[in-house]
Amino acid sequence: MAAEAINKERVLVVEDEADLSSSLAYALRANGYEAQVADRGELALGALEVFRPDLVLLDLMLPDMSGLEICRRLRKAGSTNQPAVIILSARAQEIDRVVGFEIGADDYVVKPFSVRELMLRIEARLKTRRAVVDVGVEQLSTSVEKSGQIFNLRNLRVDESAHRVFVDDKEVHVSALEMKVLIFLFRSPGRMRTRRELLTEVWGYHPEVASRTVDTHIKRLRDKLDTAADLLQTVRGVGFRLADPARRTGHDEEVVLHSELVHEPRQAKGANGVKTH
Ligand code: CA
Repeated sequence: MAAEAINKERVLVVEDEADLSSSLAYALRANGYEAQVADRGELALGALEVFRPDLVLLDLMLPDMSGLEICRRLRKAGSTNQPAVIILSARAQEIDRVVGFEIGADDYVVKPFSVRELMLRIEARLKTRRAVVDVGVEQLSTSVEKSGQIFNLRNLRVDESAHRVFVDDKEVHVSALEMKVLIFLFRSPGRMRTRRELLTEVWGYHPEVASRTVDTHIKRLRDKLDTAADLLQTVRGVGFRLADPARRTGHDEEVVLHSELVHEPRQAKGANGVKTH
């Protein structure tokens, strides 16, 4: 690695429109990042291995491969230090957004966009990614068992510094953003956090990101957590929380296990039970 590249965060631009990719690379370098461009999917996959970006700007329509496929493969590879992914797409349909998030994208920007705004989003994503590593264990509630930088709750273990999550000692691969969600919730087990709090604290900004985004990510994370999914609880219409380790009801019938739509008018009354094993 060249000396000048040390400490610079790396951004891979996967985009086949040459004008756009070169202006993005220029803007990225002007903002202090190291940038590399791949104009085809095949090149992008190679660059992920060699360039090892901290963040990927990912166009969906590439000549040889869909950007979604690249994202899927990247997340499936499951390395412990996964880059953040921002999808760039002319396709504004909600379905694309949802699919993008479901396969592990962290953000979604619709073309045409302002380069300046994109730079702010990139910084927000990288800040989130850094924060995943920087959050201190001392902020953790004493009601959750802690050992070093490892958070334990029943069969869920989150090793923050190694960016690894285990359920029943089996590793579960999570994105940087999902890690941030877990850490954020672990800081206040049992306490409900609203969608707005999650958007502000985890996503790092909250202009036009739909609240649904939070639900989509929580649902995806819950799917990954498998037998520990019930530890990640939905308070209907309001927000989310990690199961309170101090509560031992032996019943889980009142725990809301499934993601609810924002518009859900029902109250969270009585949704305090925590399943115990
Ligand atoms: Ca394209």
